[in-house]
Amino acid sequence: MIGSIENHRSREAGSLVYPVYSRRSGGLSIGINLFPAEKVCPFNCPYCEVFPFHNDAGFSIKEMEKELVVIVEDAKSRNIPIRDICFSGNGEPTISPDFPDALGAAAWIRNEKAYEASIVVITSGAGLIDSARSDVLVQAATGPDSVHVWLKVDAGTEEWYRVINRSAIPFADVCAGIRDFCARAPAVVQTMLCAVDAQIPSEQESESWVKLVSGLDHIEAIQIYGKCRPAPEDPCAEPVPLSFLEARAERIRKQIAPVPVFVFF
Ligand code: SF4
Repeated sequence: MIGSIENHRSREAGSLVYPVYSRRSGGLSIGINLFPAEKVCPFNCPYCEVFPFHNDAGFSIKEMEKELVVIVEDAKSRNIPIRDICFSGNGEPTISPDFPDALGAAAWIRNEKAYEASIVVITSGAGLIDSARSDVLVQAATGPDSVHVWLKVDAGTEEWYRVINRSAIPFADVCAGIRDFCARAPAVVQTMLCAVDAQIPSEQESESWVKLVSGLDHIEAIQIYGKCRPAPEDPCAEPVPLSFLEARAERIRKQIAPVPVFVFF
């Protein structure tokens, strides 16, 4: 419930829906978690706040709808504006078989009860290498529900991708999925900048990232953010100074203006 805006650990206790204060949303964000029983993600980012866990919780659309309505009505009764209803949770939402139906159900509840809220899907891009999943997101982003897609692009080189996302999916495949999606629908690019095992992104990495991102179509905004919360199970990721984030932001601004570039420290 809103009275005790929860931290992200509630997701690991089996919650399907959880209210959080989101710095990137700028207020109350209601999260939808399609993976209440365990983390399911083809990426293994060292800065990830979700560490491997397991419980017996199950996902159901009906339960999700029930929990979402309760939290939306609670926020309304307290006059707390809802900035967004956001699919993120314990992994990559687009690879859940429940994703299309859950997205439809959340949009319906938003339209009925919280029209001011955006629907946001945060994706690593791992789901976009599958054309059927990519199509679902394209339709959601370009259709009447105007779903906002926040797309992770942490790396511009294979080398840094291996460090920052640690995925078995080839970097070239992820880039191809991202390019294809952005050719068909709008997206907000999200990039985490941090040190990993005391290594920071190199000059060549920064240059390649600028080239990759500035070459994408239909970018609505860029969010560059730093690590601010601990990842206790994997403490090899460390924050970098604000000046490092701002230097990267300045670089992409010059290439992509007038697209807005935001820094979250
Ligand atoms: S893509 Fe997101 S959920 Fe997956 S490991 Fe990275 S930060 Fe964690």
